[in-house]
Formats: sequence, C-alpha cells, structure tokens
Amino acid sequence: MEVFKSIISLQEEISKLNINSSVGFVPTMGALHKGHLSLIKQALKENDVVVVSIFVNPTQFDNKADLDKYPITIEADLKLLEKVGCDYVFVPSVSEIYSDKIQSRHFDFGGIEHEMEGKFRDGHFDGVGTIVDRLFAIVKPQKAYFGEKDFQQLQIIKKLVEIEQKEIEIIGCKIFREKDGLAMSSRNTRLSLEFREAAPFIYKTLKKAKKKFGTKSANKVTKWVEKKFKNHPILKLEYFVIANEKSLKTLDEKRENREERREKRLGQDYRAFLAVFAGEIRLIDNIGL
Ligand code: AMP
Repeated sequence: MEVFKSIISLQEEISKLNINSSVGFVPTMGALHKGHLSLIKQALKENDVVVVSIFVNPTQFDNKADLDKYPITIEADLKLLEKVGCDYVFVPSVSEIYSDKIQSRHFDFGGIEHEMEGKFRDGHFDGVGTIVDRLFAIVKPQKAYFGEKDFQQLQIIKKLVEIEQKEIEIIGCKIFREKDGLAMSSRNTRLSLEFREAAPFIYKTLKKAKKKFGTKSANKVTKWVEKKFKNHPILKLEYFVIANEKSLKTLDEKRENREERREKRLGQDYRAFLAVFAGEIRLIDNIGL
C-alpha cells in the first residue's frame, strides 16, 4: 500500500498502471469503520486497483463546531487500509485541494439538493459536489463507491456524473450496522454512553415505520414517528420524511383513500429518511420501504 499527499505523486503512480487496469475509488473523511471497509472490500473485488481518499472536506460542513470536532484517526485508518489490502491512499491537505480559495462551486442537481439534508445543512451539497468532482478529476476512476447510509448524497453523485458527463460508474453500497442496528458512522465515536445506549432506538423506529407503511398512509406513519421521538427522553428528531427514492420528493397522500394510495405506490420505490440529534451529535439513517 502506498500513501500519497500530493496530487502529482498520486497521478504519477496511477499513470504507470497498465492501460487496461480498472481503478476503483472510495472517497472518505477517515475515522474509518466497518461501513467504510465494506465499500473498500467491494471495490477490491471489482477492480484491479483501489484508491481510497481521506479528506475532511471543509466546504461541506455548515457547522464549524462539527468540522472542528470531526474525529481524525489517520494512523489507525492506514493500518485498517493496509490490512484490508487497499492499494493507494490519498491524504491531501486542504491547500493541496483548494489552494488558497476554500470555496465551493454552485451546482444545480435538478432539485434533489433542496430536499431533506439540503434543507437543514446550508451549502452542504455544493461542498460535496465540489470535492467529489475534484477528486474524480484527480483519480479518474472507472467505478466509485458510495454508501446508502448517505442516500441523498449517493443520488447527488449520480446526478453529478450525469451533469459533468463523466464516464464513472457510481455504485451504491448497503448500510453497514452495529449489532444493535445503529448505522455505523465516524460520528458515533463522539456519542456519550447515555446517547450511544439510546441510539439503537433510531433504527428500531425506522423498522416499525416500514411495517406500518404496508397498511398506513405516509402521513400517518410520519405523525407516528414524530410522536415516538417527541416522547423519547433524550433523542431529538430533526426530520422524518417518506420520499420517492429518485426524486427524493416527500410522498404526500393526505387526501387519498387506501386504493388510490396502493395504485400510486405500485412500481415506485419509497424510502424513509431521518435526522436525529443525540445531544450535539447529528445522526442520519434511512430504510427502503
Ligand atoms: P464518510 O467518511 O462519512 O464521508 O463516508 C465515506 C463513504 O462511506 C460514504 O460514501 C458513506 O456513505 C459511506 N459510509 C459511511 N458509513 C457507512 C455505513 N454505515 N454503511 C455503508 N456505507 C457507509
């Protein structure tokens, strides 16, 4: 495994590869866990060479405290990457990526950027689009791997390659969970014991919502989830939304009867999304319905 800090040195190494070698790419912000490793393992199976980047991208944070406290565990990350068989790790500095202008470009992702996370994290997807586009231009992979944990981000990246007309296959990977159901996240390491013990309530509630969605309207399920969180002693719900997987538009069936609802849902995929505050730590999760 080789570690590169500069764009030039990484590109030099990639240019030495056989022209037919396929390059798989997994962008991360580090503090790696088994969720990240599941993406990397899939990339290793499907490509000749795998590049993993570790870069805490300042332009996608709307909250400075969240950026300042983002966990950095580079030594442990490199050990994990070596163990799993990663080929190249790209660990650039902020100035290597942005020079002296730490700023995002503005993107039009056709509206999906204004839903859910876009409503609550100002400028977040411009930051994500900016960094992923930059990293794609540096690494030039054939395939890139993103987790369904950040489902809206995955859809944004699919849109990004479409707009930028890049020939990169975007592969979505299943959410990797702790045994108690909590979706793995680098931010989980910042949870106090009290919040860590409470956090499995999030996925439990999502699973119950999924079950209810079989017989109840999206509106009723949403109200039910909101009430569950209202009654929770420490977890605070920021949003719960049932939305179409592609448009990410909220499913609104308030005035439809059961038959109309069934008709409308047929052949369409819906997913429930939420964001929850566990103290000052913001957790997101989602489930296919
Ligand atoms: P991050 O380091 O949080 O930016 O995540 C890097 C990539 O790993 C993103 O594509 C995430 O969606 C993905 N990822 C993070 N946590 C998980 C998880 N628990 N299961 C699957 N993918 C994940």
